[in-house]
Amino acid sequence: MAHQNSRDVDSFMEGLKKRNPHENEFHQAVREVATSVIPFVNENVRYRDEQIFERMTEPDRIVIFRVTWVDDEGRIRANRAWRVQFNNAIGAYKGGLRFHPSVTQSVLKFLGFEQTFKNSLTGLPMGGAKGGSNFNPRGKSDREVMRFCQSLMTELHRHIGENTDVPAGDIGVGAREIGYLFGQYKRLENEFVGTITGKGLAFGGSAGRTEATGHGCVYFGNHVLEAAGESMQGRTVGVSGSGNVALYAAQKATELGGKVITLSDSGGFIHDPDGIDAEKLAFVQDLKEVQRGRISAYADKYPAATFTADARPWAVPMQVALPCATQNELSLGDANTLIGNGVRLVCEGANMPTELDAVHALQSSGVLFGPAKAANAGGVAVSGMEQSQNAQRVSWSAQEVDEKLRGVMSDIHSQCVEYGGAEKAGDPVDYVKGANLAGFVKVADAMLSYGAV
Ligand code: NDP
Repeated sequence: MAHQNSRDVDSFMEGLKKRNPHENEFHQAVREVATSVIPFVNENVRYRDEQIFERMTEPDRIVIFRVTWVDDEGRIRANRAWRVQFNNAIGAYKGGLRFHPSVTQSVLKFLGFEQTFKNSLTGLPMGGAKGGSNFNPRGKSDREVMRFCQSLMTELHRHIGENTDVPAGDIGVGAREIGYLFGQYKRLENEFVGTITGKGLAFGGSAGRTEATGHGCVYFGNHVLEAAGESMQGRTVGVSGSGNVALYAAQKATELGGKVITLSDSGGFIHDPDGIDAEKLAFVQDLKEVQRGRISAYADKYPAATFTADARPWAVPMQVALPCATQNELSLGDANTLIGNGVRLVCEGANMPTELDAVHALQSSGVLFGPAKAANAGGVAVSGMEQSQNAQRVSWSAQEVDEKLRGVMSDIHSQCVEYGGAEKAGDPVDYVKGANLAGFVKVADAMLSYGAV
């Protein structure tokens, strides 16, 4: 049976690659899910007979458009943007917008596909989508970013809506960009509704949304450790990235008793053996969000720290690794180094940061592994809460939102244990399988009910 399953995965992937040539990130994301779902579908033939997984790997639609804007020198510039509306079986499309030069249709398809499973895991009624542009906000003035956001929304607004598709932030789309995007949306539609999440607190944002992905990731990681009879307390923690997810993951890991020793950006990483405490984190937050500076400045400010250019932090010995920057930032070589240095937990804050062979190496060495679909679902969960608050015209307190976030992360952990639990006593929980199957079943059952749509 195992051989048959693996042949079925290979033949499924062959067809998918033919239909989606050159989309390596999308192939990688689907293969990871197919490895768990195809054996399950072979045992639960109602899904196979209705071609559910085949349909789930084909987006409902992709909108591609040109974004024309004027730079500060008065020159006309053009970028490409996409919205991938992947699956709305269980709710309106929901997923972030990414602005980064590496954005391609393949990247957004992988993100939209994963988002469908992640949103399902939250237990909230949200379908999966993703969008963005190859626009690079780095080095652009605020006015240029504003003109770009306004131009992008001038096209995007006709494809989204509070009951249709609700975008949010992602890499390169933070508070500043969301403000510009929502301001233009509101102007074009003449409506103040919660069509975008991640808004500022003054205009319909939710308390706790900024922190949610990073905090949720650490709550999830701590559940994984606790299920193995361990905890975050006293652990050395390596974090990659220094953006929204990384900074709040570092904050929560510190609050739970961990000692955070690394942060990074695309220029390199810093290692602070003394630990990056709340005061140092506040410095980084100002550096990255207000000054829009580089992480290397940390080592100038704190002489005990070192900066290593053009490298990732995984060679630094650490007990917990939280990759929170971008996809494919932790390779097989990095995984082997982490294993050699005695890592206990790798918990993904970013989307698909760990390459597939690295995931296999970690799991087969007994390292606890929390996959992104489960571990970083806290952000979209609080986005869903922002939608509920907007619809009811209420605001929940930070404490209320945090309690709900803890509840969601604990529930996701339980679902992973239910679907990825040990087949025989003593086997570890397979969180990758658990997240894939728990996310799949809800969407698949909804699709079964709809018939051929
Ligand atoms: P930010 O833009 O706030 O931060 C991204 C960080 O990652 C920056 O430090 C950036 O460095 C670094 N980075 C980006 N691209 C690369 C690269 N190619 N190589 C090395 N470093 C890189 O993004 P977020 O923190 O919001 O997102 C980080 C990850 O978390 C992404 O995978 C995103 O999809 C995922 N995620 C985010 C959620 C959210 O709520 N924001 C929700 C769920 C997942 P630099 O400044 O040099 O560009």
